[in-house]
Amino acid sequence: MFVSDCISVNEKGHLTLGGCDTTELAAQFGTPLYAFDEEQIRQNARDYKKSIDDNYGGNGLVLYASKAFCCKEMCRICNEEGLGLDVVSGGELWTALSAGFPAGKIYFHGNNKTPAEITEALEAGVGRIIVDNLTELELLNKIAGEKGVTANILMRIKPGIDAHTHNFIRTGQIDSKFGFALETGEAMHAVRKAVSYKNINLAGLHCHIGSQIFELNPFELAAKVMLRFYADIKKETGFELDELDLGGGFGIKYLESDKPVAYPEYMKSVAATVKSCCAELGVKVPFILIEPGRSIVGSTGLTLYTVGSVKTIPGVRTYVSVDGGMGDNPRYILYQADYEVVCANKANEKRDLTATIAGKCCESGDLIQENTPVQQVEAGDILAVLSTGAYNYSMASNYNRIPRPAAVMVRDGNARLIIRRESYKDLTENDI
Ligand SMILES: *Cc1c(COP(=O)(O)O)cnc(C)c1O
Repeated sequence: MFVSDCISVNEKGHLTLGGCDTTELAAQFGTPLYAFDEEQIRQNARDYKKSIDDNYGGNGLVLYASKAFCCKEMCRICNEEGLGLDVVSGGELWTALSAGFPAGKIYFHGNNKTPAEITEALEAGVGRIIVDNLTELELLNKIAGEKGVTANILMRIKPGIDAHTHNFIRTGQIDSKFGFALETGEAMHAVRKAVSYKNINLAGLHCHIGSQIFELNPFELAAKVMLRFYADIKKETGFELDELDLGGGFGIKYLESDKPVAYPEYMKSVAATVKSCCAELGVKVPFILIEPGRSIVGSTGLTLYTVGSVKTIPGVRTYVSVDGGMGDNPRYILYQADYEVVCANKANEKRDLTATIAGKCCESGDLIQENTPVQQVEAGDILAVLSTGAYNYSMASNYNRIPRPAAVMVRDGNARLIIRRESYKDLTENDI
């Protein structure tokens, strides 16, 4: 009935998540509220982990791409489920370390790490630093030398794959700010440099071809391109790389019409490609890393709002205004992202109203969804926007000085606060 499997409807006709009545969550914790189905997050993590065990005999590691939803509790859950972590900033690294996440399982990404971030990563002893460019490689070699440590690295490669997704989030092709290009010889040049540097240990290469991808083909193609390059490196330098990080990007269902590949199926077919490629090229099967972000948390979360007003402009459209908006979910204003909307206290009723869900910020573009089907809502109703677990809280802002919402984990009918709602005092905390 709904895009997310985590959601159902109880005998009162109210939307439920993880066994909790979402209208009760709204009453208890206030709105706007992010709510996550903890069991489903853990299940997704286990499914990915199992696929590494099944397809590579356990010779690999699943890294949760923490930028999708980063907070201490999420880091703890990933650690408990045996995942590693992908971080892209000093702030994400700080969050992970504050949660007691083992540094050796943290992979540090980013296309413009500052000298301070590189120093923090080396001092923490992160597992790998994923180097983006030659300037960074030199800087890393220098800082590692000063500290008397060896930096274990992967290098980010642009495999040149077009993953048929939204332009803003397409990162595999040559016109991308991320990584070294293969076809220009830049990547081979960088590999030669890396293996020559005294304080660098090149463990392997990384690619990430985009996000919200529904097809298998781009992933298989990327794996092939990368492994051919492994063979070239072996031939030209005699150096055999140990690790291959294939990135994230697996799509999830935002609308009923979205048809993502089931993760086990994706993992199986990419593994088959990896194995046959390695055999053909005469290179060993590397330790495999994958970095799912959205597909671990996206479908497990929803956002609850209270409807403030319903404004019908005859012959134009109906605006339903909620107590949040682009501050807690900027994905519509950024990408015109799709979402399914349900009135939580009328979940069994027909969605026969076509409405534009508007936020409370002073921007006409502050919308959550345009002309979307929803129940006949009125002021005071609770509106649920589904599949907001990824890239919502992590992209939230304080525009218009609106405090960021709280977040709760729900499991077996119980809810617990994992992120407090910001207060007005929090908003002025750094003002002088
Ligand atoms: C964003 C990102 C991911 C996660 O992407 P999803 O689409 O959320 O799975 C993984 N790796 C890197 C390097 C990223 O930048």
